[in-house]
Amino acid sequence: MLSVGFLLFYKSDTGAFCEVSVQGQIVARLPLFEDSVKRIDTPGGYNIITVQDGSVSVTEADCGNQICVQTGQIYKNGQIITCLPHGLIIKVVSDQDKEVDTIAY
Ligand SMILES: [Zn+2]
Repeated sequence: MLSVGFLLFYKSDTGAFCEVSVQGQIVARLPLFEDSVKRIDTPGGYNIITVQDGSVSVTEADCGNQICVQTGQIYKNGQIITCLPHGLIIKVVSDQDKEVDTIAY
């Protein structure tokens, strides 16, 4: 039973996917359990998004402030990386609905 409880907690705390949106439109949905590198081209420039070891980060961008790159890696449900100059948002999401997190035993 303990291991089951731990697994449920682990699943609810750690995001399963990241959603990449540009100016409000979701352009990519990447699983965090699979390492990948994706280039996103926006009207303002490009962002290189890297998924590694269950977390996602912007490893390269040609935006002026580089805040998205400096944010570093995110992996928890609800965490976001924003690139305001490009209108790009990366958000960690679970593959479950939020209500599942609040189930009481
Ligand atoms: Zn940026």
